[in-house]
Amino acid sequence: MITWIHLRSVSYLGAWVGMATILAFHAHPDDEALLTGGTLARLAAEGHRVIVAVACDGVMGEATGADGQARLDELRAAAAVLGVGRVVHLGYADSGHGPILFPDPPDRPRFARVPDDEAAERLAELLREEHADLLLSYDAQGGYGHRDHVKVHRIGALAAELTGIRVLEATLPRDPIVRLLTIMRKLRILVRYDPQVIRTAYSSRAEITHRVDVRRFSARKRAALAAHRSQVYGKGRAALAFRLLIRLPLPVFGLLLGREWFIDPAASPTTTLYDDVLRTPATQT
Ligand SMILES: [Zn+2]
Repeated sequence: MITWIHLRSVSYLGAWVGMATILAFHAHPDDEALLTGGTLARLAAEGHRVIVAVACDGVMGEATGADGQARLDELRAAAAVLGVGRVVHLGYADSGHGPILFPDPPDRPRFARVPDDEAAERLAELLREEHADLLLSYDAQGGYGHRDHVKVHRIGALAAELTGIRVLEATLPRDPIVRLLTIMRKLRILVRYDPQVIRTAYSSRAEITHRVDVRRFSARKRAALAAHRSQVYGKGRAALAFRLLIRLPLPVFGLLLGREWFIDPAASPTTTLYDDVLRTPATQT
């Protein structure tokens, strides 16, 4: 038998009006739109307080053509489209996805070099300050395995432990992603993804507890992606993929990106997928 825990009842500040505070923790600007944009727009439209915290400023080097401030400005523009009430940068630099971890820039450490307990305490402080009811983080694989995304998973889990706040981990169902990326590789849109890595990326359907229908928020999600202008109009194949996405007609965009997926790591395995991140199945005993 399934029992329900409704997180709205946990919010001591907003309980009497039925409102919750949700903090979405992300690695880089643009991750918030891609992985959780629809969910954040939906929560904001329902009247909840939504906060986005990014670990890194989204800049690896001059090759990106944008400085950290510009990427954070783009994040703020995307957040405004989604109805996000506050954007926080935890102050770290990107660690990059390649085999080399480059030296730190002069003014801030790369996220990968920051001790876990230090970053987790910084996030925990923000969660306490905001009286958050729910933290959104990443799956254990960090999606496709970027070291900053893997670290977001670890820091999210630690901060949840420190504060006792429930965490849901954003992910994607692996099988359709493998199919989509295989097509993109064949069309030579994305070539640097190793099919071997993709086979173990993200999550199997059995692990997923929440599938959030955000098709009604497709226009906002697409506009939030488009707000990351340096990514959209940059050089390279990732920018090409971005441009393809934001030029898709809304119904097609909704088909591809109209559902967002989460794992409740505390939940018992279940065959039911929940549509609302503020609802969650019974916790493990
Ligand atoms: Zn990222």
